Amino acid sequence: NVRVRFAPSPTGYLHIGAARTALYNWLFARKHGGKFLLRIEDTDLQRSTEESTRSIFEGLAWLGLDYDEEVVFQSANAEKHRAAARRLLEEGKAYRDFTPREERSDANIKQEIAERARRAAAGAESKINPYRDLPREESDRRAAAGEPFAIRLKVPREGRSEFYDIVYGKQEREYAEIEDLVLVRSDGHPLYNLSVVCDDIEMGITHVIRGQDHLTNTHKQILIYRALGAPVPQFAHLPLILAPNKAKLSKRKHGEVVSLTTYRDRGFVPAAFRNFLALLGWSPADGKEIMTLEEMIERFSLEGIHRSNAIFNFNEHDPRQWTDPKALWMNAEYIHHMPLAELLPLVRAELEEAGLWRAEYEGERRAWFERTVDLIRQRFHTLKDFSGQGRAYFSDEFAFDEAAVEKNLRREPRLKELLPELARRLETVEPFTAETVERALRAFAEEAGVKAGLLINAARTALTGQAVGPSMFEIFETLGRERSIQRLRAAVD
Ligand code: GLU
Repeated sequence: NVRVRFAPSPTGYLHIGAARTALYNWLFARKHGGKFLLRIEDTDLQRSTEESTRSIFEGLAWLGLDYDEEVVFQSANAEKHRAAARRLLEEGKAYRDFTPREERSDANIKQEIAERARRAAAGAESKINPYRDLPREESDRRAAAGEPFAIRLKVPREGRSEFYDIVYGKQEREYAEIEDLVLVRSDGHPLYNLSVVCDDIEMGITHVIRGQDHLTNTHKQILIYRALGAPVPQFAHLPLILAPNKAKLSKRKHGEVVSLTTYRDRGFVPAAFRNFLALLGWSPADGKEIMTLEEMIERFSLEGIHRSNAIFNFNEHDPRQWTDPKALWMNAEYIHHMPLAELLPLVRAELEEAGLWRAEYEGERRAWFERTVDLIRQRFHTLKDFSGQGRAYFSDEFAFDEAAVEKNLRREPRLKELLPELARRLETVEPFTAETVERALRAFAEEAGVKAGLLINAARTALTGQAVGPSMFEIFETLGRERSIQRLRAAVD
């Protein structure tokens, strides 16, 4: 029975790469009728924040990734992790290292690894850590006397570690290249590899699906599973997501571009962004791009994950290209074609945020609201467009696009007379619908000896502030007689 987990460290906002890891785990669990668990790896007390934990919950909720069972907070399990290390100590699979703390710098450890590899290559017996073979009684005595120690795993001295990664295939590493890793620091703090393995065992994880940056850790973790006598899960590591210049996407360098909430705040439809994320490193066998959730679950497989890194396109310097063009295209596809009933609440939220929402859109003007959203969505790319370009449909205070005004209103002086006259004629059109307005406008154009297009373009800008939009006659009907007439007059005032 499949059990997978998403195990983020809450040390910053939810990264899109982490969101993709969560999504793949979720898809895999749902596909196999398994469980998708959430574990917050909050053991780095200095860097973990509650705000970050909140952003993880929010991000998962936004993407619609519901998790099963209770959330596990890794820090709550520290005592269990220490107990596991003590057990390994008792069984002689780990040892106490009494090296004073200041001597155990990273540089020393690196040196130790290099030295060990060199000796292994030379076929010499490597005996680096003097405490590895310290007689048990002496180790116990020094510990009892209160001397501080770290607990290290005894890594075999010869041979190699091997495992099969579902994405990257066979993985090998010489044991000689792996240091006797620290399981518990001298201050009693259990370290990452131990904590992850203990928690994965306790949570009954069958498949570990996570970023490729953990691929080399896996060798160490497998040693811990074996030492603890626990079955080793299957591993699937995911390709990296890179910036356009092939640099690793990072919070530090790329700022908000890598934060999931950026896409929510910029008007992405959650289902669209989820669909886009799914394809950053995976593709279904049939190449389908736009998929409902059911279609995605049905098609998802770990075997379909790419080994090559994915590129996330964006241009930090050009605000018009603030995100991957494909992401934007996909979002537009969703906005244009998703069931209207699913779009309406998203538009409502957007209008609420912009202060444009009115209770009557859920009441007596509900039909109007639905028709209008359906009419205007065809040209929009993000939910922001409903309050931006689409503002004129929901408010009388809207901005005019300068280029549109120049081209459609100012350039033709006769419009100063034509638009008020058109407005006058529309006063008596009965009923006021797209068809009757069209007939009246075309008749008037013919009488006045101008092209209908001149009036249509001028009216579009007068009524909506824009140069492009849905069918002009539909716009008249949607805005209604009163507003249409008022705006035609105001445009040439
Ligand atoms: N907490 C780790 C991270 O955020 C993930 C560990 C894992 O998935 O095994 O990178």
